[in-house]
Amino acid sequence: MTVQPGTSLRELQASLPLDPLENRILLCHATGLSRVQLITRAEQALDEAQAARLETLVRRRLAGEPIAYIVGKREFFGLDFEVSDAVLIPRPDTELAVELAIERLPQNGRLLDMGTGSGAIAVAVAHARPDAAVTALDVSEAALEVARRNAANNQARVRFLRSDWFSALDANESFELIVSNPPYIAAGDEHLSQGDLRFEPAGALTDHADGLSALRAIVGGSPRHLVPGGWLLMEHGYDQAASVRALLEAGGYLDAQSWRDLAGIERVSGARFAGS
Ligand code: GLN
Repeated sequence: MTVQPGTSLRELQASLPLDPLENRILLCHATGLSRVQLITRAEQALDEAQAARLETLVRRRLAGEPIAYIVGKREFFGLDFEVSDAVLIPRPDTELAVELAIERLPQNGRLLDMGTGSGAIAVAVAHARPDAAVTALDVSEAALEVARRNAANNQARVRFLRSDWFSALDANESFELIVSNPPYIAAGDEHLSQGDLRFEPAGALTDHADGLSALRAIVGGSPRHLVPGGWLLMEHGYDQAASVRALLEAGGYLDAQSWRDLAGIERVSGARFAGS
């Protein structure tokens, strides 16, 4: 695959070996033009540097690298997020967890996002709810560096902590709501070797076990850090809703329930902590 200097934007949009949306994204990235400018300047030809840049980008995509990593960003909940291969690419499914958290967090409430990755959930909530006191933790310092920049770039006030699940929290620290999109894909699941997931951090995708171990740890540890009546909300896999509700019911929570994502799949489950 080569991109010849002198080729017009119009010709390139028709001839690049990617789907039309990905063509547009990479053309914008290589040329610095906006999507509207791609149309209004369709006859403009690529210079040598732009052609070389575009060729590199297209080759990376053809090798399977996710488009979000190639351009270094992804939109989530109407905000721009920087992403790198240190973090999971934010998914539209996860916007459900953000909406549920925003609805349930009381005024001036304290929210904890466990395994924040790019900061998607924490930053989206903090942006929508400036009254909230949002804490986000992750075990990966590389992920936290990305998340901190995402908070700053979106004017979101978030306190970040490097922590292996609950370990760095004060014993008596509590929250009105805990939310998490933890690694929930079981070891050996075929999806791990397909598509974008091949390039994403394994520790953000899989628990290297039955898929439920991180969810179990969060259900088990949250009662020590939730106020009575406080909500725990967790994203999980397409076939895990009943198991997660069972964990919540066995763990002293009330009103265990699941919510469906845009594809109609039970994607987030949660419950209120009854108090001890
Ligand atoms: N939703 C992601 C996927 O299945 C997985 C994210 C996760 O493990 N938290 O592609």
